[in-house]
Amino acid sequence: MSHKILDGRLTSKQVKEEIKIEVDKILAKGLRPPHLSAILVGNNPASEAYMRNKVRSCEQVGFTSDLIRRDNDITQEELLALVKSLNEDDNVDGFIVQLPSPDHIDDTEVLLAIDPKKDVDGFHPYNFGCMAQGLESFLPATPYGILMLLERYNIETSGKNVVVIGRSNIVGTPISILLSRKDKIGNSTVTLAHSRTKNLKDISSQADILISALGKPFFVTVDMVKEGAVVIDVGINRIEDITRKSGSRLVGDVDFEGVAPKCSYITPVPGGVGPMTVASLMLNTLKAYKKKL
Ligand code: NAD
Repeated sequence: MSHKILDGRLTSKQVKEEIKIEVDKILAKGLRPPHLSAILVGNNPASEAYMRNKVRSCEQVGFTSDLIRRDNDITQEELLALVKSLNEDDNVDGFIVQLPSPDHIDDTEVLLAIDPKKDVDGFHPYNFGCMAQGLESFLPATPYGILMLLERYNIETSGKNVVVIGRSNIVGTPISILLSRKDKIGNSTVTLAHSRTKNLKDISSQADILISALGKPFFVTVDMVKEGAVVIDVGINRIEDITRKSGSRLVGDVDFEGVAPKCSYITPVPGGVGPMTVASLMLNTLKAYKKKL
C-alpha cells in the first residue's frame, strides 16, 4: 500500500498563517498583540530547543513573548510567586512552565497555581476536567495538534478503532478521551494501552488509527500494525548516529521504514506531531487573548 505523509510541518505553517491573519486584524484595530510568557527552569538542552521553537513561532504569528529563565536552584516558593505574578499580569494572556523541572520542585503544586484562564498548555485539572466533559476549555497542545492533523487530512474517526500506546496526562490519556468524545473529530472506539498491557500486538493490529506516545525508539514494528492503518507517532527519542555531525538524530516510537509501506497515512519524526504541538499552543494563546477582550 502506498502511504501518505501527514505533514505536520506544512500543516502547522498553514495554521500559523491563519493565526497571523487574525493578529494583523487585531493590530489594525489599534489593539496590542497576544502575549505568551514561558518559564524555563535550568538548562535542559531539549527544553531549550522546544523553547526556541515556541518563541520563533510567536514571532511568526505576530505575538509578543518573553522567556523567563530561572536557575535550577529556584525554590518552590519563588516559582509559585513567579506563577502568581504572571497570573496577575494583565499583559500576559497565557503562559507555560516548561517541564521537566528539577526534582525538588513539586510540579503538581505549580500546575495547580496556574490560573486556568491562562493555562494555554491545557494541563490544569480544571481544563482537563472540562475537556473530559466536552465543555469549553484549552485542549492540551499535543492532542489538539493530533486532532487538527486528522481533521485537515480528512481522516474519518467516527466508528474507527483507535489504539493509543502510553497513558501520560499530557498525551496518551487526553487523546484517548478526545477521540472517544461525541465530536466532529471523535466518536472512535478507543483502547488505551500502557506498560501493563498484555498482548499489545494483538490489540494494536486491530487499530484503524494507531497513536504511539511512549518514548521508545523503534517500538512499533510492522507486525503490530494493520494493513492500511493511520499511524501517528508522538515519540521524540534521540539515538546515536555516527553519520551525523552531532553524533545523534531524532526518531519517533515507530520503525518508520518498516511500518510506512503498510499504512495509509503516517506522521514522520521530526516533522509530524511536534510542529503541530507548537501550532496548538499558538491557537490556545490566541483564544486566551480573545476571551479577555
Ligand atoms: P511518558 O514518558 O510520561 O509515559 C510513557 C507512557 O508509555 C506510560 O504511560 C507507560 O505506561 C507507557 N509505556 C512504557 N513502556 C510501555 C510498553 N512497553 N508498552 C506499552 N506502553 C508503555 O509519556 P509522554 O510524556 O506522553 O511522552 C511520550 C513520548 O512522546 C516521549 O518520547 C516524548 O518525548 C514524546 N512527546 C512528544 C511531543 C510532541 O510534541 N511530539 C509532546 C509530548 C511528548
